[in-house]
Amino acid sequence: MEIETMKIYNTLTRKKEEFVPLEEGKVKMYVCGPTVYNLIHIGNARPMIVFDTFRRYMEYKGYEVNYVSNFTDVDDKIIRKANEEGVDPSVISERYIAECKKDMAAMNIKPATTHPKATEEIDGMLDMIETLIEKGNAYVAGDGTVYFRTRSFSDYGKLSHKNLDDLQGGMRSLLVSGEEQKEDPLDFVLWKPKKEGEPYWESPWCEGRPGWHIECSVMSKRYLGEQIDIHAGGEDLIFPHHENEIAQSEACNGKEFAHYWMHNGFLNIDNKKMSKSEGNFFTVREVGEQYDLQVLRFFMLSAHYRSPLNFSKELMEAAKNGLDRICTCAQNLKYLSEQNKQKELTEEEKENLKKSQVYVRKFEDSMDDDCNTADALSAIFELVKFANSTVSESVSTAYAKGLLDTLQTLTDVCGLIILKEEELLDEDIEAKIAERQAARKAKDFAKADAIRKELADQGIILEDTREGVKWRRA
Ligand code: AMP
Ligand code: ZN
Repeated sequence: MEIETMKIYNTLTRKKEEFVPLEEGKVKMYVCGPTVYNLIHIGNARPMIVFDTFRRYMEYKGYEVNYVSNFTDVDDKIIRKANEEGVDPSVISERYIAECKKDMAAMNIKPATTHPKATEEIDGMLDMIETLIEKGNAYVAGDGTVYFRTRSFSDYGKLSHKNLDDLQGGMRSLLVSGEEQKEDPLDFVLWKPKKEGEPYWESPWCEGRPGWHIECSVMSKRYLGEQIDIHAGGEDLIFPHHENEIAQSEACNGKEFAHYWMHNGFLNIDNKKMSKSEGNFFTVREVGEQYDLQVLRFFMLSAHYRSPLNFSKELMEAAKNGLDRICTCAQNLKYLSEQNKQKELTEEEKENLKKSQVYVRKFEDSMDDDCNTADALSAIFELVKFANSTVSESVSTAYAKGLLDTLQTLTDVCGLIILKEEELLDEDIEAKIAERQAARKAKDFAKADAIRKELADQGIILEDTREGVKWRRA
Protein backbone atom coordinates (compact mmCIF):
# COMPACT_ATOMS: atom_id res chain seq x y z
CA MET A 1 0.00 0.00 0.00
CA GLU A 2 1.25 3.43 -0.90
CA ILE A 3 2.00 5.68 2.08
CA GLU A 4 0.90 9.29 1.67
CA THR A 5 3.85 11.62 1.77
CA MET A 6 4.69 14.07 4.51
CA LYS A 7 6.94 17.07 4.72
CA ILE A 8 9.89 17.60 7.01
CA TYR A 9 11.82 20.81 7.58
CA ASN A 10 15.40 19.84 6.82
CA THR A 11 18.03 21.92 8.66
CA LEU A 12 20.49 20.94 5.94
CA THR A 13 18.58 22.67 3.14
CA ARG A 14 16.57 25.06 5.36
CA LYS A 15 13.46 23.98 3.50
CA LYS A 16 10.40 21.87 4.09
CA GLU A 17 10.93 18.83 1.91
CA GLU A 18 8.82 15.90 0.92
CA PHE A 19 9.92 12.85 2.86
CA VAL A 20 11.21 10.06 0.65
CA PRO A 21 12.81 7.22 2.60
CA LEU A 22 15.92 5.42 1.37
CA GLU A 23 13.99 2.18 1.34
CA GLU A 24 10.28 2.14 0.63
CA GLY A 25 8.14 1.74 3.73
CA LYS A 26 11.11 1.88 6.11
CA VAL A 27 12.62 4.68 8.18
CA LYS A 28 16.03 4.72 9.81
CA MET A 29 16.12 7.39 12.49
CA TYR A 30 18.80 8.38 15.02
CA VAL A 31 18.14 10.76 17.93
CA CYS A 32 21.00 12.02 20.09
CA GLY A 33 20.30 10.96 23.65
CA PRO A 34 21.29 12.38 27.03
CA THR A 35 24.58 12.35 28.88
CA VAL A 36 23.78 10.34 31.97
CA TYR A 37 25.26 12.07 35.01
CA ASN A 38 22.07 13.31 36.62
CA LEU A 39 18.30 13.00 36.45
CA ILE A 40 17.14 14.28 33.07
CA HIS A 41 15.69 17.80 32.98
CA ILE A 42 12.62 18.96 31.15
CA GLY A 43 14.79 20.36 28.34
CA ASN A 44 16.11 16.86 27.64
CA ALA A 45 12.51 15.63 27.68
CA ARG A 46 11.57 17.86 24.74
CA PRO A 47 13.43 15.95 21.98
CA MET A 48 12.41 12.68 23.61
CA ILE A 49 8.71 13.59 23.48
CA VAL A 50 8.56 15.30 20.11
CA PHE A 51 10.59 12.71 18.23
CA ASP A 52 8.77 9.84 19.95
CA THR A 53 5.53 11.42 18.72
CA PHE A 54 6.94 11.74 15.21
CA ARG A 55 8.02 8.11 15.33
CA ARG A 56 4.53 7.06 16.46
CA TYR A 57 3.03 9.06 13.61
CA MET A 58 5.30 7.42 11.04
CA GLU A 59 4.31 4.02 12.43
CA TYR A 60 0.65 5.04 12.25
CA LYS A 61 1.19 5.87 8.56
CA GLY A 62 2.56 2.38 8.00
CA TYR A 63 6.31 2.90 8.08
CA GLU A 64 8.51 0.40 9.83
CA VAL A 65 10.72 2.64 11.96
CA ASN A 66 14.13 1.59 13.20
CA TYR A 67 14.70 4.14 15.97
CA VAL A 68 18.07 4.43 17.66
CA SER A 69 18.84 6.72 20.58
CA ASN A 70 22.10 6.58 22.50
CA PHE A 71 23.17 7.13 26.07
CA THR A 72 26.44 9.05 26.40
CA ASP A 73 27.97 7.17 29.32
CA VAL A 74 31.56 8.43 29.19
CA ASP A 75 32.02 12.14 29.73
CA ASP A 76 33.78 14.66 31.99
CA LYS A 77 30.66 15.31 34.08
CA ILE A 78 30.11 11.59 34.72
CA ILE A 79 33.75 11.17 35.72
CA ARG A 80 33.62 14.22 38.02
CA LYS A 81 30.54 12.90 39.79
CA ALA A 82 32.07 9.41 40.10
CA ASN A 83 35.17 10.90 41.71
CA GLU A 84 33.04 12.94 44.14
CA GLU A 85 31.16 9.82 45.20
CA GLY A 86 34.28 7.62 45.12
CA VAL A 87 32.70 5.09 42.74
CA ASP A 88 33.40 3.79 39.27
CA PRO A 89 31.91 6.01 36.48
CA SER A 90 29.81 3.05 35.34
CA VAL A 91 27.98 3.16 38.70
CA ILE A 92 26.92 6.73 37.94
CA SER A 93 25.97 6.11 34.30
CA GLU A 94 24.07 2.89 35.04
CA ARG A 95 22.18 4.62 37.86
CA TYR A 96 21.07 7.49 35.65
CA ILE A 97 20.30 5.30 32.65
CA ALA A 98 17.90 3.37 34.91
CA GLU A 99 16.40 6.64 36.22
CA CYS A 100 16.10 8.04 32.69
CA LYS A 101 14.26 4.92 31.56
CA LYS A 102 11.81 5.36 34.47
CA ASP A 103 11.15 8.97 33.43
CA MET A 104 10.73 7.93 29.81
CA ALA A 105 8.17 5.29 30.78
CA ALA A 106 6.30 7.84 32.93
CA MET A 107 6.14 10.17 29.91
CA ASN A 108 4.92 7.23 27.79
CA ILE A 109 7.98 7.39 25.51
CA LYS A 110 8.42 4.14 23.61
CA PRO A 111 11.77 2.46 24.16
CA ALA A 112 14.00 2.87 21.10
CA THR A 113 14.59 -0.14 18.86
CA THR A 114 18.15 0.09 20.23
CA HIS A 115 19.58 2.22 23.04
CA PRO A 116 23.34 1.85 22.52
CA LYS A 117 25.84 3.02 25.12
CA ALA A 118 29.09 4.68 24.08
CA THR A 119 31.28 2.52 26.35
CA GLU A 120 30.04 -0.63 24.60
CA GLU A 121 30.95 0.67 21.14
CA ILE A 122 34.64 1.49 21.57
CA ASP A 123 35.79 -1.09 18.97
CA GLY A 124 33.67 0.55 16.29
CA MET A 125 35.12 3.94 17.24
CA LEU A 126 38.69 2.64 16.95
CA ASP A 127 37.86 1.26 13.48
CA MET A 128 36.34 4.53 12.27
CA ILE A 129 39.23 6.62 13.62
CA GLU A 130 41.73 4.23 11.98
CA THR A 131 39.97 4.63 8.63
CA LEU A 132 39.93 8.42 8.98
CA ILE A 133 43.68 8.43 9.67
CA GLU A 134 44.32 6.15 6.66
CA LYS A 135 42.28 8.42 4.42
CA GLY A 136 44.15 11.52 5.58
CA ASN A 137 41.15 13.01 7.38
CA ALA A 138 42.67 12.59 10.83
CA TYR A 139 46.13 12.73 12.40
CA VAL A 140 47.85 11.75 15.63
CA ALA A 141 49.48 14.51 17.68
CA GLY A 142 52.56 14.08 19.87
CA ASP A 143 50.69 13.05 23.04
CA GLY A 144 48.57 10.45 21.21
CA THR A 145 45.51 12.68 20.75
CA VAL A 146 43.82 12.02 17.41
CA TYR A 147 42.31 15.05 15.68
CA PHE A 148 39.95 15.31 12.76
CA ARG A 149 41.49 17.48 10.03
CA THR A 150 38.48 19.73 9.51
CA ARG A 151 39.70 21.39 6.32
CA SER A 152 40.11 17.97 4.69
CA PHE A 153 36.32 17.72 4.53
CA SER A 154 35.25 20.23 1.94
CA ASP A 155 31.57 20.21 2.94
CA TYR A 156 32.31 21.23 6.52
CA GLY A 157 29.75 23.82 7.64
CA LYS A 158 26.95 22.63 5.31
CA LEU A 159 24.53 21.86 8.16
CA SER A 160 25.10 24.93 10.33
CA HIS A 161 25.58 27.07 7.22
CA LYS A 162 28.86 28.35 8.55
CA ASN A 163 31.81 29.24 6.46
CA LEU A 164 35.19 27.83 7.53
CA ASP A 165 36.92 31.17 7.37
CA ASP A 166 34.26 32.80 9.57
CA LEU A 167 34.74 29.99 12.01
CA GLN A 168 38.45 30.49 12.03
CA GLY A 169 37.92 34.09 13.13
CA GLY A 170 34.70 34.67 15.01
CA MET A 171 33.97 31.25 16.42
CA ARG A 172 37.51 30.55 17.49
CA SER A 173 36.72 30.53 21.19
CA LEU A 174 34.63 27.41 20.68
CA LEU A 175 37.49 25.49 19.27
CA VAL A 176 40.60 26.28 21.25
CA SER A 177 41.38 23.06 23.14
CA GLY A 178 44.82 21.60 22.38
CA GLU A 179 45.71 24.67 20.34
CA GLU A 180 49.46 24.17 20.55
CA GLN A 181 49.50 20.72 18.96
CA LYS A 182 46.70 21.07 16.41
CA GLU A 183 47.51 21.66 12.78
CA ASP A 184 44.55 24.04 12.65
CA PRO A 185 42.38 25.52 15.42
CA LEU A 186 39.30 24.11 13.64
CA ASP A 187 40.40 20.50 14.14
CA PHE A 188 38.46 18.56 16.75
CA VAL A 189 39.23 15.56 18.95
CA LEU A 190 38.43 11.98 17.98
CA TRP A 191 40.47 10.26 20.69
CA LYS A 192 42.25 11.72 23.72
CA PRO A 193 44.79 10.40 26.24
CA LYS A 194 43.59 9.36 29.68
CA LYS A 195 44.09 11.58 32.68
CA GLU A 196 44.64 10.40 36.22
CA GLY A 197 41.48 8.80 37.63
CA GLU A 198 39.70 8.53 34.29
CA PRO A 199 38.36 5.42 32.59
CA TYR A 200 40.40 4.46 29.52
CA TRP A 201 40.69 1.94 26.72
CA GLU A 202 43.70 0.62 24.80
CA SER A 203 44.17 2.04 21.33
CA PRO A 204 46.95 2.17 18.71
CA TRP A 205 47.59 5.84 19.66
CA CYS A 206 47.42 5.99 23.45
CA GLU A 207 45.45 4.65 26.39
CA GLY A 208 42.51 6.98 26.38
CA ARG A 209 38.89 7.64 25.57
CA PRO A 210 36.84 8.83 22.61
CA GLY A 211 35.71 12.37 21.87
CA TRP A 212 31.97 12.90 22.07
CA HIS A 213 31.16 13.35 18.37
CA ILE A 214 32.61 10.05 17.15
CA GLU A 215 30.14 8.10 19.33
CA CYS A 216 27.07 9.00 17.33
CA SER A 217 28.72 8.47 13.93
CA VAL A 218 29.71 4.97 15.01
CA MET A 219 26.50 3.94 16.75
CA SER A 220 24.39 5.21 13.88
CA LYS A 221 26.49 3.22 11.40
CA ARG A 222 26.42 0.06 13.48
CA TYR A 223 22.67 -0.05 14.13
CA LEU A 224 21.29 1.72 11.04
CA GLY A 225 23.95 1.47 8.34
CA GLU A 226 26.13 4.03 6.56
CA GLN A 227 23.18 6.06 5.34
CA ILE A 228 20.12 6.96 7.35
CA ASP A 229 16.91 8.84 6.72
CA ILE A 230 16.59 11.14 9.73
CA HIS A 231 19.02 12.39 12.34
CA ALA A 232 17.54 14.49 15.13
CA GLY A 233 18.26 16.33 18.36
CA GLY A 234 18.03 19.73 20.02
CA GLU A 235 19.08 22.80 18.04
CA ASP A 236 22.12 23.30 20.30
CA LEU A 237 23.56 20.18 18.67
CA ILE A 238 23.63 21.60 15.12
CA PHE A 239 27.05 23.07 15.74
CA PRO A 240 29.50 21.62 16.45
CA HIS A 241 28.12 18.14 17.31
CA HIS A 242 26.12 17.36 14.19
CA GLU A 243 28.45 19.23 11.89
CA ASN A 244 31.28 17.07 13.21
CA GLU A 245 29.24 13.88 12.93
CA ILE A 246 28.64 14.66 9.25
CA ALA A 247 32.35 15.31 8.66
CA GLN A 248 33.40 12.05 10.35
CA SER A 249 30.74 9.82 8.77
CA GLU A 250 30.90 11.22 5.26
CA ALA A 251 34.72 11.31 5.19
CA CYS A 252 34.83 7.70 6.42
CA ASN A 253 32.01 6.17 4.39
CA GLY A 254 32.22 8.31 1.27
CA LYS A 255 28.47 8.87 1.08
CA GLU A 256 25.80 11.16 2.45
CA PHE A 257 25.22 10.39 6.14
CA ALA A 258 21.64 11.50 6.93
CA HIS A 259 19.16 12.81 4.42
CA TYR A 260 16.95 14.85 6.78
CA TRP A 261 18.15 16.72 9.86
CA MET A 262 15.47 17.67 12.38
CA HIS A 263 16.13 19.96 15.35
CA ASN A 264 13.82 20.92 18.18
CA GLY A 265 13.77 24.43 19.59
CA PHE A 266 14.84 25.15 23.13
CA LEU A 267 12.73 24.90 26.23
CA ASN A 268 13.08 27.98 28.43
CA ILE A 269 11.81 28.65 31.91
CA ASP A 270 9.96 31.88 32.58
CA ASN A 271 11.35 33.15 29.28
CA LYS A 272 14.94 32.60 30.38
CA LYS A 273 17.38 29.94 29.33
CA MET A 274 17.29 27.02 31.75
CA SER A 275 20.27 27.31 34.01
CA LYS A 276 21.23 25.40 37.12
CA SER A 277 23.13 28.32 38.61
CA GLU A 278 20.17 30.68 38.32
CA GLY A 279 17.86 28.16 39.91
CA ASN A 280 15.40 28.09 36.99
CA PHE A 281 15.89 24.45 36.29
CA PHE A 282 13.53 21.49 36.73
CA THR A 283 14.06 17.78 36.44
CA VAL A 284 11.30 15.65 34.94
CA ARG A 285 11.07 14.02 38.37
CA GLU A 286 10.31 17.35 40.07
CA VAL A 287 7.60 18.20 37.57
CA GLY A 288 6.21 14.69 38.06
CA GLU A 289 5.66 15.47 41.75
CA GLN A 290 3.27 18.26 40.84
CA TYR A 291 1.66 17.02 37.65
CA ASP A 292 0.87 13.78 35.94
CA LEU A 293 3.66 13.57 33.34
CA GLN A 294 0.99 13.21 30.66
CA VAL A 295 0.43 16.93 31.28
CA LEU A 296 4.11 17.62 30.54
CA ARG A 297 3.78 15.60 27.35
CA PHE A 298 0.67 17.51 26.32
CA PHE A 299 2.42 20.81 27.11
CA MET A 300 5.40 19.89 24.90
CA LEU A 301 3.12 18.96 22.01
CA SER A 302 1.09 22.15 22.29
CA ALA A 303 3.84 24.06 20.46
CA HIS A 304 5.54 23.38 17.16
CA TYR A 305 8.70 21.39 17.85
CA ARG A 306 10.93 23.95 16.11
CA SER A 307 9.64 26.94 18.09
CA PRO A 308 11.11 27.95 21.41
CA LEU A 309 8.81 26.91 24.23
CA ASN A 310 8.42 28.60 27.56
CA PHE A 311 7.75 26.49 30.64
CA SER A 312 5.59 28.28 33.18
CA LYS A 313 2.98 27.39 35.78
CA GLU A 314 0.26 29.12 33.73
CA LEU A 315 1.04 27.12 30.59
CA MET A 316 1.21 23.86 32.55
CA GLU A 317 -2.22 24.66 34.08
CA ALA A 318 -3.56 25.36 30.60
CA ALA A 319 -2.13 22.03 29.43
CA LYS A 320 -3.73 20.26 32.39
CA ASN A 321 -7.13 21.76 31.56
CA GLY A 322 -6.78 20.86 27.90
CA LEU A 323 -5.86 17.27 28.65
CA ASP A 324 -8.68 17.01 31.23
CA ARG A 325 -11.18 18.10 28.59
CA ILE A 326 -10.08 15.25 26.30
CA CYS A 327 -10.03 12.71 29.15
CA THR A 328 -13.51 13.70 30.32
CA CYS A 329 -14.87 13.23 26.81
CA ALA A 330 -13.15 9.82 26.58
CA GLN A 331 -14.58 8.69 29.93
CA ASN A 332 -18.05 9.77 28.90
CA LEU A 333 -17.76 7.90 25.59
CA LYS A 334 -16.48 4.83 27.41
CA TYR A 335 -19.41 4.94 29.84
CA LEU A 336 -21.88 5.28 26.97
CA SER A 337 -20.20 2.53 24.97
CA GLU A 338 -20.72 0.15 27.88
CA GLN A 339 -24.40 0.91 28.37
CA ASN A 340 -26.64 -1.94 27.44
CA LYS A 341 -29.22 -0.05 25.42
CA GLN A 342 -29.49 0.66 21.77
CA LYS A 343 -26.56 -1.19 20.19
CA GLU A 344 -26.89 -0.59 16.46
CA LEU A 345 -26.01 2.67 14.74
CA THR A 346 -28.89 4.83 13.58
CA GLU A 347 -28.72 6.39 10.12
CA GLU A 348 -27.91 9.76 11.62
CA GLU A 349 -25.11 8.25 13.69
CA LYS A 350 -23.67 6.58 10.60
CA GLU A 351 -23.55 9.99 8.95
CA ASN A 352 -21.99 11.56 12.03
CA LEU A 353 -19.27 8.90 12.20
CA LYS A 354 -18.42 9.72 8.61
CA LYS A 355 -18.35 13.43 9.47
CA SER A 356 -15.99 12.78 12.39
CA GLN A 357 -13.38 11.58 9.89
CA VAL A 358 -12.89 15.20 8.87
CA TYR A 359 -10.98 15.70 12.11
CA VAL A 360 -8.82 12.66 11.43
CA ARG A 361 -7.84 14.13 8.09
CA LYS A 362 -7.13 17.47 9.74
CA PHE A 363 -4.94 15.71 12.27
CA GLU A 364 -3.08 13.86 9.53
CA ASP A 365 -2.65 16.97 7.42
CA SER A 366 -1.14 18.79 10.41
CA MET A 367 1.23 15.96 11.23
CA ASP A 368 2.18 15.59 7.56
CA ASP A 369 3.15 19.26 7.60
CA ASP A 370 6.48 18.97 9.43
CA CYS A 371 4.99 17.30 12.48
CA ASN A 372 2.76 20.21 13.48
CA THR A 373 1.57 18.78 16.80
CA ALA A 374 0.02 22.12 17.84
CA ASP A 375 -2.46 21.95 14.96
CA ALA A 376 -2.87 18.19 15.42
CA LEU A 377 -4.01 18.83 19.01
CA SER A 378 -6.47 21.45 17.72
CA ALA A 379 -7.95 18.78 15.43
CA ILE A 380 -8.35 16.51 18.48
CA PHE A 381 -10.17 19.31 20.32
CA GLU A 382 -12.48 19.77 17.38
CA LEU A 383 -13.25 16.06 17.46
CA VAL A 384 -13.95 16.32 21.21
CA LYS A 385 -16.31 19.21 20.58
CA PHE A 386 -18.05 17.26 17.84
CA ALA A 387 -18.36 14.21 20.11
CA ASN A 388 -19.73 16.26 23.01
CA SER A 389 -22.33 17.86 20.77
CA THR A 390 -23.53 14.62 19.17
CA VAL A 391 -23.72 12.22 22.12
CA SER A 392 -26.40 11.94 24.77
CA GLU A 393 -27.62 9.22 27.14
CA SER A 394 -29.61 7.73 24.26
CA VAL A 395 -26.84 7.18 21.69
CA SER A 396 -26.06 3.66 20.56
CA THR A 397 -23.12 1.85 22.12
CA ALA A 398 -21.67 1.47 18.61
CA TYR A 399 -21.67 5.23 18.07
CA ALA A 400 -20.00 6.01 21.38
CA LYS A 401 -17.45 3.27 20.71
CA GLY A 402 -16.81 4.47 17.18
CA LEU A 403 -16.01 7.99 18.37
CA LEU A 404 -13.93 6.71 21.25
CA ASP A 405 -11.87 4.51 18.90
CA THR A 406 -11.17 7.48 16.64
CA LEU A 407 -10.25 9.69 19.58
CA GLN A 408 -7.97 7.04 21.04
CA THR A 409 -6.26 6.38 17.73
CA LEU A 410 -5.29 10.05 17.51
CA THR A 411 -4.25 10.45 21.14
CA ASP A 412 -2.19 7.23 20.87
CA VAL A 413 -0.21 8.83 18.06
CA CYS A 414 0.52 11.70 20.45
CA GLY A 415 1.44 9.17 23.15
CA LEU A 416 -1.29 10.60 25.40
CA ILE A 417 -3.08 8.17 27.67
CA ILE A 418 -6.67 9.37 27.99
CA LEU A 419 -8.27 6.40 29.74
CA LYS A 420 -6.49 5.14 32.80
CA GLU A 421 -7.08 1.57 33.80
CA GLU A 422 -8.79 1.86 37.15
CA GLU A 423 -6.97 -0.12 39.80
CA LEU A 424 -9.07 -2.93 41.24
CA LEU A 425 -9.83 -2.64 44.93
CA ASP A 426 -8.87 -5.53 47.21
CA GLU A 427 -12.50 -6.36 47.91
CA ASP A 428 -13.32 -6.50 44.19
CA ILE A 429 -10.46 -8.93 43.67
CA GLU A 430 -11.62 -11.11 46.54
CA ALA A 431 -15.18 -11.12 45.20
CA LYS A 432 -13.86 -12.28 41.80
CA ILE A 433 -11.84 -15.03 43.47
CA ALA A 434 -14.93 -16.23 45.36
CA GLU A 435 -16.85 -16.24 42.06
CA ARG A 436 -14.07 -18.32 40.49
CA GLN A 437 -14.10 -20.80 43.39
CA ALA A 438 -17.84 -21.21 43.01
CA ALA A 439 -17.42 -21.84 39.27
CA ARG A 440 -14.80 -24.48 39.95
CA LYS A 441 -17.02 -26.16 42.49
CA ALA A 442 -19.75 -26.28 39.88
CA LYS A 443 -17.15 -27.73 37.46
CA ASP A 444 -17.55 -24.70 35.18
CA PHE A 445 -13.84 -24.59 34.40
CA ALA A 446 -14.26 -22.35 31.36
CA LYS A 447 -15.76 -19.65 33.57
CA ALA A 448 -13.10 -20.18 36.26
CA ASP A 449 -10.36 -19.77 33.63
CA ALA A 450 -12.02 -16.71 32.19
CA ILE A 451 -12.03 -15.06 35.63
CA ARG A 452 -8.36 -15.92 36.14
CA LYS A 453 -7.56 -14.36 32.77
CA GLU A 454 -9.66 -11.29 33.44
CA LEU A 455 -7.73 -10.70 36.67
CA ALA A 456 -4.39 -11.43 34.98
CA ASP A 457 -5.19 -8.81 32.32
CA GLN A 458 -5.48 -6.28 35.13
CA GLY A 459 -2.18 -7.36 36.67
CA ILE A 460 -3.57 -9.64 39.38
CA ILE A 461 -1.82 -12.97 39.69
CA LEU A 462 -3.59 -15.90 41.36
CA GLU A 463 -1.80 -18.82 42.97
CA ASP A 464 -3.66 -21.93 44.03
CA THR A 465 -2.04 -23.18 47.23
CA ARG A 466 -2.97 -25.79 49.84
CA GLU A 467 -4.16 -23.00 52.10
CA GLY A 468 -6.45 -21.70 49.38
CA VAL A 469 -6.11 -19.09 46.66
CA LYS A 470 -3.51 -16.38 47.16
CA TRP A 471 -3.21 -13.29 45.02
CA ARG A 472 -0.72 -10.55 44.35
CA ARG A 473 -0.36 -7.57 42.07
CA ALA A 474 2.16 -8.15 39.23
P1 AMP B 1 22.58 16.57 26.54
O1 AMP B 1 22.46 15.54 27.61
O2 AMP B 1 22.87 17.95 27.03
O3 AMP B 1 23.49 16.12 25.41
O4 AMP B 1 21.12 16.74 25.88
C1 AMP B 1 20.35 15.67 25.37
C2 AMP B 1 19.34 16.22 24.40
O5 AMP B 1 18.50 17.21 25.05
C3 AMP B 1 19.93 16.93 23.19
O6 AMP B 1 19.17 16.62 22.04
C4 AMP B 1 19.81 18.40 23.55
O7 AMP B 1 19.77 19.21 22.41
C5 AMP B 1 18.47 18.42 24.27
N1 AMP B 1 18.31 19.58 25.16
C6 AMP B 1 19.09 19.93 26.21
N2 AMP B 1 18.63 21.05 26.80
C7 AMP B 1 17.50 21.42 26.13
C8 AMP B 1 16.53 22.48 26.28
N3 AMP B 1 16.62 23.39 27.26
N4 AMP B 1 15.51 22.53 25.40
C9 AMP B 1 15.38 21.61 24.43
N5 AMP B 1 16.25 20.59 24.23
C10 AMP B 1 17.30 20.48 25.07
ZN1 ZN C 1 24.87 12.73 18.90
